[in-house]
Amino acid sequence: MPTISADLPFFSLIDGPTPLQEMNGLRNALLSEIKDCPRLFVKRDDLTGLAGGGNKTRKLEYLIGDALAKKATDIVTAGAIQSNHARQTAAAAAKAGLQAHLLLFDTVSYDGPAYRVSGNLLLDQILGAKVRIEDKHADALAVFEEVLHEITANKGEAYVVPVGGSNAIGSTGYAAAFLEIEAQANSLGVTVSRIIHATSSLGTQSGLLAGRSLAKSPFAIESINVAHETQDTLVDKTLELANATAKRIGADPIHAADIHADFRHLGEGYGLPTEGTISAIELVARTEGILLDPVYSGKAMSGLISKILAGEFGNDETLVFLHTGGMPGLFAYPDQFGKT
Ligand SMILES: *Cc1c(COP(=O)(O)O)cnc(C)c1O
Repeated sequence: MPTISADLPFFSLIDGPTPLQEMNGLRNALLSEIKDCPRLFVKRDDLTGLAGGGNKTRKLEYLIGDALAKKATDIVTAGAIQSNHARQTAAAAAKAGLQAHLLLFDTVSYDGPAYRVSGNLLLDQILGAKVRIEDKHADALAVFEEVLHEITANKGEAYVVPVGGSNAIGSTGYAAAFLEIEAQANSLGVTVSRIIHATSSLGTQSGLLAGRSLAKSPFAIESINVAHETQDTLVDKTLELANATAKRIGADPIHAADIHADFRHLGEGYGLPTEGTISAIELVARTEGILLDPVYSGKAMSGLISKILAGEFGNDETLVFLHTGGMPGLFAYPDQFGKT
């Protein structure tokens, strides 16, 4: 079994592997609508354990490790107002004794009453991050420079984490996650055919592809787009990031044919849940007791369910849904629920 070099800077934030669980309740519910259904597992990266959990914590183990190796004192990152990435960065920085600065851009045209008050934003403030909320038309570069200038003026050393933690350093966390999933599937004696997950800033997808290449594994990575308007930019950017990650961990190059991205489930755009998103969240909550989120994992699950109902998978397949977290986001969208 290949591994990722222990020489890469790393700051531990997660205790041991997250669970890989079978979803029989969901499968049985789907079997009331179709004759047969693949076996369904869920990889619980919502349980990474840091301040509400989620996929960014795996990336932050490498990013904060790098920041500490570079003697940083302050971490600067950006995202949407309900960014799970920003919340996990605030928590990781707190644990590492660093000051987080979150630049949150009001880019999602969602007008619910809680969106600009509750959910991740509330947690960012509790976690002690310095939060700046900027208009969607703000000059992002100028805002960044202003914050970097403030940090330098206070004799701090800034470390910038890209949006979503998605560079080759952060994506290394998902290469490691791929190896973890494969090892867990092997020990359960199951042969996985595909891993299905939500993709946005592409670090999770790129890391999984790099890990798959390192392991020379046949599992397909099926990425459900929740953010990109066009297919070309997603494929090009994923190839670039996946190959940079592969290079960093000593894996073979990734090819365009390895990228499977499904564009049918975005709806009106990033941060805007579809009807399918809401019903997928309710179905999984009511059959598995698992909470998905309105922006990413609920939309990806809605995609997975519609693919299963359309017979896109073989009945002898075993699918792993990667639960990337985001549950605090539910509290930003209360007006979407309670209708059924
Ligand atoms: C950020 C995020 C994703 C997408 O991961 P990327 O690496 O940005 O593509 C999926 N689910 C949740 C809950 C997230 O917060």
